[in-house]
Amino acid sequence: MNAHIQSEETRERDKIARLSRSLYERGLTAGSSGNISVRLADGWLLTPTNSCLGELDPARISRLDREGNLQAGDPPSKEAFLHRSMYDVRPQAGAIVHLHSTHSAAVSCLCGLDPTNCIPPLTPYFIMKIGRLPLVPYHRPGDKALAEVIRSLAVKHCAVLLANHGPVVSGPDLEGAIYASEELEETAKIFLLLQNRPTNCLNSDQIAELKAAFKLDF
Ligand SMILES: [Zn+2]
Repeated sequence: MNAHIQSEETRERDKIARLSRSLYERGLTAGSSGNISVRLADGWLLTPTNSCLGELDPARISRLDREGNLQAGDPPSKEAFLHRSMYDVRPQAGAIVHLHSTHSAAVSCLCGLDPTNCIPPLTPYFIMKIGRLPLVPYHRPGDKALAEVIRSLAVKHCAVLLANHGPVVSGPDLEGAIYASEELEETAKIFLLLQNRPTNCLNSDQIAELKAAFKLDF
């Protein structure tokens, strides 16, 4: 491994630990739930299994090759296959954040969601960062059948919501994936606050205008 690649990896390890702690301290993840990955030139980094995002040791973050085999660090999260499925079909994804954040997880348990778009177009910021959010039907934790479903949806969507579980969000880099996850969590909170209230959503012309102005591709 040359020095340039090594220093990039060290920087990404430090950044994962720093931003994960911030998510933990702000209550966006609890206990040992949630996992975060960053794509490298020849593989990816992923938070280890049973690790608390508030207390990651950068040197122990798992390093995987492109196929998901452990090369260094602690054993990876058992949800590694969620990340790999998304990277496989989204070459533009540089990082993936999966949280059990409260409001998004609450929405994932609601009856009557539109499975093609679980959160209505309430704000332009949600449209710009997430677009449409499809619902992945419930699978038990670790069920590898999830991989195929995510692969099929992530071709067209940067984020999906796992039913009775939580969101999986990709971004061009770690900051982008985290900002999109936070936008999703805040919009989920707004959506829950508005339950059973008459609501103005953005209409199709307003969404088309955003897609054109910001070159959105969902
Ligand atoms: Zn999970």
